[in-house]
Amino acid sequence: MSVSPKPVLVMKFGGTSVAGVERIRKVAALVKREVENGYDVAVVVSAMSGETNKLVAFTREASPLHDAREYDAIASTGENVTAGLTAIALDAIGVPARSWAGWQVPIKTDGVHGSASILDIGTEGIKERFAQGFVAVVAGFQGISPEGRVTTLGRGGSDTSAVALAAALGAERCDIYTDVDGVYTTDPRIVAKARKLDRISYEEMLEMASLGAKVLQTRSVEVAMIHRVKTQVLSSFDESIGDNLPGTLVCDEDEIMEKRLVTGVAYSRDEAKITLVRVPDKPGIAAAIFSPLADAGINVDMIVQNVSDDGRTTDMTFTTGKADFDRAIKVLNDNAADIGFTRIATDQNVVKVSVIGVGMRTHAGVAQTMFRTLAEKGINILVISTSEIKVSVLIGADYTELAVRALHTAYGLDAE
Ligand code: ADP
Ligand code: ASP
Ligand code: MG
Repeated sequence: MSVSPKPVLVMKFGGTSVAGVERIRKVAALVKREVENGYDVAVVVSAMSGETNKLVAFTREASPLHDAREYDAIASTGENVTAGLTAIALDAIGVPARSWAGWQVPIKTDGVHGSASILDIGTEGIKERFAQGFVAVVAGFQGISPEGRVTTLGRGGSDTSAVALAAALGAERCDIYTDVDGVYTTDPRIVAKARKLDRISYEEMLEMASLGAKVLQTRSVEVAMIHRVKTQVLSSFDESIGDNLPGTLVCDEDEIMEKRLVTGVAYSRDEAKITLVRVPDKPGIAAAIFSPLADAGINVDMIVQNVSDDGRTTDMTFTTGKADFDRAIKVLNDNAADIGFTRIATDQNVVKVSVIGVGMRTHAGVAQTMFRTLAEKGINILVISTSEIKVSVLIGADYTELAVRALHTAYGLDAE
Protein backbone atom coordinates (compact mmCIF):
# COMPACT_ATOMS: atom_id res chain seq x y z
CA MET A 1 0.00 0.00 0.00
CA SER A 2 1.46 3.35 -0.93
CA VAL A 3 1.33 6.08 1.67
CA SER A 4 0.79 9.61 0.40
CA PRO A 5 3.82 11.79 1.23
CA LYS A 6 3.54 14.23 4.10
CA PRO A 7 3.60 17.97 3.49
CA VAL A 8 7.09 19.42 3.71
CA LEU A 9 8.08 22.39 5.88
CA VAL A 10 11.44 24.18 5.72
CA MET A 11 12.47 25.89 8.98
CA LYS A 12 15.47 28.23 8.90
CA PHE A 13 17.19 29.47 12.05
CA GLY A 14 19.50 32.50 11.98
CA GLY A 15 22.64 33.16 13.99
CA THR A 16 21.05 34.40 17.21
CA SER A 17 18.61 31.46 17.17
CA VAL A 18 21.52 28.97 17.23
CA ALA A 19 23.93 31.10 19.28
CA GLY A 20 24.76 28.29 21.72
CA VAL A 21 23.74 24.79 22.69
CA GLU A 22 20.93 26.06 24.94
CA ARG A 23 19.45 28.04 22.05
CA ILE A 24 19.81 25.00 19.79
CA ARG A 25 17.77 22.95 22.28
CA LYS A 26 14.97 25.53 21.86
CA VAL A 27 15.28 25.14 18.09
CA ALA A 28 14.97 21.38 18.45
CA ALA A 29 11.77 21.82 20.47
CA LEU A 30 10.27 24.05 17.75
CA VAL A 31 11.18 21.49 15.10
CA LYS A 32 9.72 18.66 17.17
CA ARG A 33 6.42 20.49 17.35
CA GLU A 34 6.20 20.73 13.55
CA VAL A 35 7.12 17.04 13.19
CA GLU A 36 4.26 16.26 15.56
CA ASN A 37 2.02 18.49 13.43
CA GLY A 38 2.60 15.99 10.61
CA TYR A 39 5.31 17.64 8.51
CA ASP A 40 8.45 16.26 6.96
CA VAL A 41 10.86 18.94 8.15
CA ALA A 42 14.06 20.22 6.56
CA VAL A 43 15.93 22.55 8.90
CA VAL A 44 18.43 25.09 7.55
CA VAL A 45 20.83 26.67 10.04
CA SER A 46 23.16 29.66 10.08
CA ALA A 47 26.42 29.75 11.99
CA MET A 48 26.29 30.88 15.62
CA SER A 49 25.99 34.68 15.65
CA GLY A 50 29.37 36.38 15.34
CA GLU A 51 31.02 33.20 14.09
CA THR A 52 31.12 34.06 10.38
CA ASN A 53 32.53 37.51 11.19
CA LYS A 54 35.27 35.83 13.21
CA LEU A 55 36.12 33.43 10.38
CA VAL A 56 36.18 36.25 7.82
CA ALA A 57 38.50 38.25 10.11
CA PHE A 58 40.89 35.27 10.22
CA THR A 59 41.07 35.14 6.42
CA ARG A 60 41.82 38.89 6.26
CA GLU A 61 44.45 38.55 8.96
CA ALA A 62 46.13 35.70 7.09
CA SER A 63 46.28 37.87 3.97
CA PRO A 64 44.09 40.76 2.80
CA LEU A 65 44.41 39.50 -0.76
CA HIS A 66 43.42 35.88 -0.19
CA ASP A 67 41.97 33.55 -2.81
CA ALA A 68 38.16 33.64 -2.72
CA ARG A 69 38.06 29.81 -2.87
CA GLU A 70 39.86 29.64 0.45
CA TYR A 71 37.65 32.40 1.91
CA ASP A 72 34.70 30.10 1.16
CA ALA A 73 36.47 27.05 2.58
CA ILE A 74 36.84 28.94 5.87
CA ALA A 75 33.74 31.18 6.05
CA SER A 76 31.40 28.25 5.37
CA THR A 77 32.52 26.20 8.36
CA GLY A 78 30.43 27.88 11.08
CA GLU A 79 27.32 26.28 9.59
CA ASN A 80 28.83 22.77 9.76
CA VAL A 81 29.01 23.06 13.54
CA THR A 82 25.43 24.26 14.07
CA ALA A 83 24.03 21.67 11.62
CA GLY A 84 25.67 18.82 13.53
CA LEU A 85 24.65 20.24 16.92
CA THR A 86 21.04 20.66 15.78
CA ALA A 87 20.89 17.05 14.59
CA ILE A 88 22.28 15.89 17.95
CA ALA A 89 19.81 18.06 19.89
CA LEU A 90 16.92 16.61 17.86
CA ASP A 91 18.09 13.02 18.38
CA ALA A 92 18.37 13.73 22.09
CA ILE A 93 14.64 14.56 22.32
CA GLY A 94 13.60 11.53 20.30
CA VAL A 95 13.44 13.10 16.84
CA PRO A 96 15.69 11.15 14.44
CA ALA A 97 17.80 13.62 12.47
CA ARG A 98 20.79 13.74 10.12
CA SER A 99 22.88 16.72 9.06
CA TRP A 100 24.11 17.60 5.59
CA ALA A 101 26.82 19.99 4.46
CA GLY A 102 25.84 21.94 1.33
CA TRP A 103 27.97 19.76 -0.97
CA GLN A 104 26.43 16.57 0.39
CA VAL A 105 22.85 17.57 -0.49
CA PRO A 106 24.13 18.64 -3.10
CA ILE A 107 23.37 22.37 -3.35
CA LYS A 108 24.94 23.10 -6.73
CA THR A 109 26.00 26.68 -7.38
CA ASP A 110 27.93 28.65 -9.96
CA GLY A 111 31.61 29.34 -9.33
CA VAL A 112 31.28 32.94 -8.09
CA HIS A 113 33.09 32.40 -4.80
CA GLY A 114 31.89 34.63 -1.97
CA SER A 115 28.48 35.30 -3.53
CA ALA A 116 27.57 32.19 -5.49
CA SER A 117 24.08 31.61 -6.94
CA ILE A 118 22.24 28.32 -6.51
CA LEU A 119 21.71 26.51 -9.80
CA ASP A 120 20.16 23.24 -8.70
CA ILE A 121 19.45 21.22 -5.57
CA GLY A 122 19.44 17.43 -5.47
CA THR A 123 16.66 16.28 -3.17
CA GLU A 124 16.94 12.47 -3.44
CA GLY A 125 19.00 11.92 -0.29
CA ILE A 126 16.79 14.16 1.85
CA LYS A 127 13.61 12.55 0.53
CA GLU A 128 14.98 9.08 1.30
CA ARG A 129 15.61 10.19 4.88
CA PHE A 130 12.14 11.75 5.09
CA ALA A 131 10.70 8.36 4.07
CA GLN A 132 12.59 6.79 6.99
CA GLY A 133 11.13 9.36 9.39
CA PHE A 134 14.19 11.59 9.73
CA VAL A 135 14.44 15.36 9.96
CA ALA A 136 17.05 16.74 7.54
CA VAL A 137 19.33 19.44 8.93
CA VAL A 138 21.16 21.35 6.21
CA ALA A 139 24.06 23.74 6.72
CA GLY A 140 22.96 27.07 5.23
CA PHE A 141 25.13 29.54 3.29
CA GLN A 142 27.06 26.77 1.48
CA GLY A 143 27.10 25.10 -1.90
CA ILE A 144 29.41 23.32 -4.30
CA SER A 145 30.81 24.85 -7.49
CA PRO A 146 31.02 23.16 -10.91
CA GLU A 147 34.72 22.52 -10.05
CA GLY A 148 33.68 20.66 -6.93
CA ARG A 149 34.81 23.33 -4.48
CA VAL A 150 32.85 24.73 -1.54
CA THR A 151 31.11 28.04 -2.26
CA THR A 152 29.23 30.54 -0.07
CA LEU A 153 26.13 32.48 -1.05
CA GLY A 154 27.03 35.97 0.22
CA ARG A 155 26.48 37.33 3.74
CA GLY A 156 23.06 36.46 5.09
CA GLY A 157 22.90 33.65 2.52
CA SER A 158 21.28 31.01 4.75
CA ASP A 159 17.94 32.66 3.98
CA THR A 160 18.51 31.84 0.33
CA SER A 161 19.56 28.25 1.12
CA ALA A 162 16.25 27.83 2.95
CA VAL A 163 13.96 29.34 0.33
CA ALA A 164 15.72 27.49 -2.51
CA LEU A 165 15.44 24.21 -0.60
CA ALA A 166 11.75 24.91 0.02
CA ALA A 167 11.27 25.43 -3.73
CA ALA A 168 13.19 22.24 -4.59
CA LEU A 169 11.26 20.14 -2.06
CA GLY A 170 7.89 21.66 -3.01
CA ALA A 171 7.47 22.73 0.62
CA GLU A 172 4.16 24.06 1.86
CA ARG A 173 6.00 27.00 3.43
CA CYS A 174 9.43 28.30 4.37
CA ASP A 175 9.61 29.64 7.92
CA ILE A 176 12.51 32.01 8.62
CA TYR A 177 13.09 32.17 12.37
CA THR A 178 15.10 35.15 13.58
CA ASP A 179 15.43 37.54 16.53
CA VAL A 180 12.44 39.75 15.60
CA ASP A 181 8.89 38.48 15.24
CA GLY A 182 8.40 39.58 11.65
CA VAL A 183 9.05 42.21 9.03
CA TYR A 184 8.45 45.69 10.41
CA THR A 185 7.64 48.99 8.73
CA THR A 186 11.28 49.86 9.45
CA ASP A 187 14.15 48.45 11.49
CA PRO A 188 12.63 48.03 14.98
CA ARG A 189 16.11 48.47 16.44
CA ILE A 190 16.19 52.14 15.49
CA VAL A 191 12.50 53.10 15.51
CA ALA A 192 10.62 52.10 18.64
CA LYS A 193 7.31 52.89 16.92
CA ALA A 194 7.97 50.48 14.03
CA ARG A 195 4.93 48.32 13.34
CA LYS A 196 4.92 44.62 12.47
CA LEU A 197 3.39 43.87 9.09
CA ASP A 198 1.07 40.85 8.86
CA ARG A 199 1.80 40.53 5.16
CA ILE A 200 4.15 42.09 2.65
CA SER A 201 4.27 41.51 -1.11
CA TYR A 202 7.28 39.85 -2.75
CA GLU A 203 7.97 43.07 -4.69
CA GLU A 204 7.97 45.27 -1.62
CA MET A 205 10.07 42.81 0.39
CA LEU A 206 12.54 42.65 -2.48
CA GLU A 207 12.92 46.44 -2.43
CA MET A 208 13.08 46.57 1.38
CA ALA A 209 15.82 43.92 1.44
CA SER A 210 17.87 45.39 -1.38
CA LEU A 211 17.58 48.88 0.15
CA GLY A 212 18.99 47.74 3.48
CA ALA A 213 16.44 45.77 5.56
CA LYS A 214 18.68 42.79 6.20
CA VAL A 215 15.93 40.72 7.84
CA LEU A 216 15.93 38.67 4.60
CA GLN A 217 18.79 38.35 2.13
CA THR A 218 17.72 40.00 -1.15
CA ARG A 219 18.37 36.91 -3.20
CA SER A 220 16.15 34.80 -0.95
CA VAL A 221 13.24 37.10 -1.78
CA GLU A 222 14.03 36.80 -5.49
CA VAL A 223 13.96 33.01 -5.24
CA ALA A 224 10.73 33.12 -3.22
CA MET A 225 9.13 35.40 -5.81
CA ILE A 226 10.21 33.36 -8.83
CA HIS A 227 9.13 30.02 -7.33
CA ARG A 228 6.16 31.45 -5.41
CA VAL A 229 7.46 30.06 -2.12
CA LYS A 230 5.21 31.12 0.75
CA THR A 231 7.76 32.60 3.13
CA GLN A 232 7.11 33.55 6.72
CA VAL A 233 9.38 35.56 9.03
CA LEU A 234 8.94 34.87 12.74
CA SER A 235 10.84 34.81 16.03
CA SER A 236 12.47 31.79 17.62
CA PHE A 237 12.46 33.68 20.92
CA ASP A 238 8.69 33.98 21.25
CA GLU A 239 7.38 31.00 23.21
CA SER A 240 3.84 31.29 21.81
CA ILE A 241 4.78 30.88 18.16
CA GLY A 242 3.65 28.15 15.86
CA ASP A 243 0.00 28.02 16.82
CA ASN A 244 -1.49 30.99 15.01
CA LEU A 245 1.26 32.09 12.60
CA PRO A 246 1.90 35.47 14.15
CA GLY A 247 4.88 36.38 11.96
CA THR A 248 4.93 38.18 8.63
CA LEU A 249 3.92 36.37 5.48
CA VAL A 250 5.71 37.35 2.26
CA CYS A 251 3.13 36.70 -0.45
CA ASP A 252 1.49 37.88 -3.68
CA GLU A 253 0.26 41.45 -3.79
CA ASP A 254 -3.35 40.35 -4.38
CA GLU A 255 -3.33 38.30 -1.16
CA ILE A 256 -3.03 41.56 0.79
CA MET A 257 -6.31 43.25 1.63
CA GLU A 258 -5.00 46.33 3.40
CA LYS A 259 -4.08 49.00 0.85
CA ARG A 260 -1.39 51.41 1.85
CA LEU A 261 0.62 54.08 0.11
CA VAL A 262 3.95 53.42 1.80
CA THR A 263 4.71 50.04 3.36
CA GLY A 264 8.11 50.66 4.86
CA VAL A 265 11.21 52.77 5.29
CA ALA A 266 14.67 51.25 4.82
CA TYR A 267 18.18 52.58 5.18
CA SER A 268 21.59 51.43 4.08
CA ARG A 269 24.89 52.65 5.48
CA ASP A 270 26.74 50.66 2.85
CA GLU A 271 27.07 53.63 0.51
CA ALA A 272 29.94 55.69 -0.82
CA LYS A 273 29.54 58.85 -2.90
CA ILE A 274 31.92 59.67 -5.72
CA THR A 275 31.91 62.92 -7.72
CA LEU A 276 33.95 63.40 -10.87
CA VAL A 277 34.50 67.14 -11.05
CA ARG A 278 34.41 68.89 -14.44
CA VAL A 279 34.07 66.10 -16.94
CA PRO A 280 33.42 67.23 -20.54
CA ASP A 281 29.69 67.63 -21.25
CA LYS A 282 29.56 65.67 -24.51
CA PRO A 283 27.97 62.48 -25.90
CA GLY A 284 29.61 59.30 -24.69
CA ILE A 285 30.82 60.64 -21.37
CA ALA A 286 28.52 58.48 -19.26
CA ALA A 287 29.68 55.44 -21.22
CA ALA A 288 33.33 56.42 -20.70
CA ILE A 289 32.76 56.54 -16.94
CA PHE A 290 30.42 53.66 -16.31
CA SER A 291 31.63 51.06 -18.84
CA PRO A 292 35.01 50.47 -17.16
CA LEU A 293 33.27 50.32 -13.77
CA ALA A 294 30.83 47.73 -15.10
CA ASP A 295 33.67 45.75 -16.67
CA ALA A 296 35.31 45.65 -13.23
CA GLY A 297 32.08 44.23 -11.79
CA ILE A 298 31.38 47.37 -9.74
CA ASN A 299 27.73 48.13 -9.14
CA VAL A 300 26.81 51.78 -9.49
CA ASP A 301 23.56 52.78 -7.89
CA MET A 302 22.34 56.39 -7.74
CA ILE A 303 23.56 58.77 -10.46
CA VAL A 304 23.18 62.53 -10.83
CA GLN A 305 24.72 64.90 -13.35
CA ASN A 306 25.04 68.66 -12.77
CA VAL A 307 25.82 71.02 -15.60
CA SER A 308 28.43 73.54 -14.54
CA ASP A 309 28.45 77.30 -15.12
CA ASP A 310 30.51 77.28 -18.28
CA GLY A 311 28.12 74.85 -20.03
CA ARG A 312 31.04 72.81 -21.36
CA THR A 313 31.73 70.66 -18.33
CA THR A 314 29.57 68.75 -15.90
CA ASP A 315 29.99 67.13 -12.49
CA MET A 316 28.98 63.48 -12.37
CA THR A 317 28.02 62.09 -8.95
CA PHE A 318 27.19 58.45 -8.25
CA THR A 319 27.23 55.91 -5.44
CA THR A 320 28.75 52.46 -4.99
CA GLY A 321 28.81 50.02 -2.09
CA LYS A 322 31.56 50.70 0.46
CA ALA A 323 33.25 47.40 -0.41
CA ASP A 324 33.67 48.51 -4.03
CA PHE A 325 34.84 52.03 -3.22
CA ASP A 326 38.63 51.57 -3.39
CA ARG A 327 38.42 49.58 -6.60
CA ALA A 328 36.08 52.15 -8.16
CA ILE A 329 38.58 54.94 -7.46
CA LYS A 330 41.38 52.87 -8.97
CA VAL A 331 39.35 52.12 -12.11
CA LEU A 332 38.47 55.82 -12.51
CA ASN A 333 42.10 56.89 -12.10
CA ASP A 334 43.24 54.19 -14.55
CA ASN A 335 40.77 55.61 -17.10
CA ALA A 336 41.37 59.28 -16.27
CA ALA A 337 42.74 60.06 -19.74
CA ASP A 338 39.61 58.77 -21.49
CA ILE A 339 37.16 60.38 -19.05
CA GLY A 340 38.88 63.71 -18.48
CA PHE A 341 37.95 65.02 -15.00
CA THR A 342 39.83 67.63 -12.97
CA ARG A 343 39.51 65.77 -9.65
CA ILE A 344 37.56 63.14 -7.73
CA ALA A 345 35.62 64.19 -4.61
CA THR A 346 34.41 61.45 -2.28
CA ASP A 347 32.24 61.00 0.80
CA GLN A 348 31.74 57.73 2.66
CA ASN A 349 29.86 59.26 5.57
CA VAL A 350 26.51 58.96 3.77
CA VAL A 351 23.39 56.83 4.09
CA LYS A 352 20.65 55.94 1.65
CA VAL A 353 17.13 56.23 3.05
CA SER A 354 14.24 54.82 1.02
CA VAL A 355 10.48 54.68 1.24
CA ILE A 356 8.82 51.67 -0.37
CA GLY A 357 5.25 50.82 -1.31
CA VAL A 358 3.27 49.38 -4.23
CA GLY A 359 0.71 52.14 -3.59
CA MET A 360 3.11 54.56 -5.31
CA ARG A 361 2.21 53.04 -8.66
CA THR A 362 -1.18 54.67 -8.51
CA HIS A 363 -0.73 57.64 -6.17
CA ALA A 364 1.28 60.80 -6.69
CA GLY A 365 2.87 62.88 -3.95
CA VAL A 366 4.99 60.29 -2.15
CA ALA A 367 8.28 61.89 -3.19
CA GLN A 368 7.07 65.39 -2.29
CA THR A 369 6.15 64.25 1.21
CA MET A 370 9.63 62.80 1.57
CA PHE A 371 11.40 65.95 0.42
CA ARG A 372 9.21 68.23 2.56
CA THR A 373 9.67 66.08 5.67
CA LEU A 374 13.46 66.07 5.30
CA ALA A 375 13.51 69.82 4.61
CA GLU A 376 11.52 70.48 7.78
CA LYS A 377 14.21 68.63 9.72
CA GLY A 378 16.96 70.64 7.99
CA ILE A 379 18.34 67.54 6.26
CA ASN A 380 20.10 68.18 2.97
CA ILE A 381 19.47 65.72 0.11
CA LEU A 382 22.63 64.84 -1.84
CA VAL A 383 21.25 62.47 -4.50
CA ILE A 384 17.75 61.20 -5.37
CA SER A 385 16.68 58.08 -7.24
CA THR A 386 13.25 56.62 -7.86
CA SER A 387 11.62 53.53 -9.29
CA GLU A 388 8.03 52.44 -9.66
CA ILE A 389 7.61 51.47 -6.01
CA LYS A 390 10.36 53.36 -4.13
CA VAL A 391 12.02 56.73 -3.63
CA SER A 392 15.57 56.84 -2.28
CA VAL A 393 17.64 59.78 -1.08
CA LEU A 394 21.27 59.99 -0.09
CA ILE A 395 21.88 62.09 3.03
CA GLY A 396 24.63 62.62 5.62
CA ALA A 397 25.00 59.52 7.82
CA ASP A 398 24.62 61.59 11.00
CA TYR A 399 20.96 62.17 10.11
CA THR A 400 20.03 58.50 9.62
CA GLU A 401 17.87 58.00 12.66
CA LEU A 402 16.29 61.44 12.52
CA ALA A 403 15.35 60.93 8.87
CA VAL A 404 14.00 57.39 9.26
CA ARG A 405 11.90 58.36 12.29
CA ALA A 406 10.53 61.53 10.66
CA LEU A 407 9.56 59.68 7.46
CA HIS A 408 8.01 56.85 9.44
CA THR A 409 5.76 59.40 11.16
CA ALA A 410 5.08 61.41 8.00
CA TYR A 411 3.66 58.39 6.16
CA GLY A 412 1.47 57.41 9.10
CA LEU A 413 3.40 54.23 9.87
CA ASP A 414 3.92 54.77 13.61
CA ALA A 415 2.42 52.18 15.91
CA GLU A 416 -0.22 53.51 18.27
P1 ADP B 1 19.44 36.24 11.40
O1 ADP B 1 20.75 36.08 12.07
O2 ADP B 1 18.32 35.53 12.09
O3 ADP B 1 19.50 35.95 9.94
P2 ADP B 1 19.56 39.10 10.84
O4 ADP B 1 20.36 39.89 11.82
O5 ADP B 1 20.19 38.75 9.54
O6 ADP B 1 19.05 37.78 11.59
O7 ADP B 1 18.17 39.84 10.53
C1 ADP B 1 17.33 40.24 11.58
C2 ADP B 1 17.54 41.73 11.89
O8 ADP B 1 17.09 42.51 10.78
C3 ADP B 1 16.73 42.26 13.04
O9 ADP B 1 17.38 42.06 14.27
C4 ADP B 1 16.53 43.74 12.69
O10 ADP B 1 17.39 44.59 13.44
C5 ADP B 1 16.96 43.84 11.24
N1 ADP B 1 15.96 44.56 10.42
C6 ADP B 1 16.25 45.57 9.57
N2 ADP B 1 15.15 46.04 9.00
C7 ADP B 1 14.12 45.30 9.47
C8 ADP B 1 12.70 45.31 9.24
N3 ADP B 1 12.13 46.18 8.38
N4 ADP B 1 11.93 44.42 9.90
C9 ADP B 1 12.49 43.54 10.77
N5 ADP B 1 13.82 43.48 11.03
C10 ADP B 1 14.64 44.35 10.39
N1 ASP C 1 26.49 32.83 8.62
C1 ASP C 1 26.35 33.58 7.38
C2 ASP C 1 26.52 35.07 7.64
O1 ASP C 1 26.73 35.47 8.77
C3 ASP C 1 25.08 33.28 6.67
C4 ASP C 1 23.82 33.66 7.41
O2 ASP C 1 23.83 33.92 8.61
O3 ASP C 1 22.78 33.69 6.77
O4 ASP C 1 26.48 35.84 6.72
MG1 MG D 1 20.21 37.07 8.29
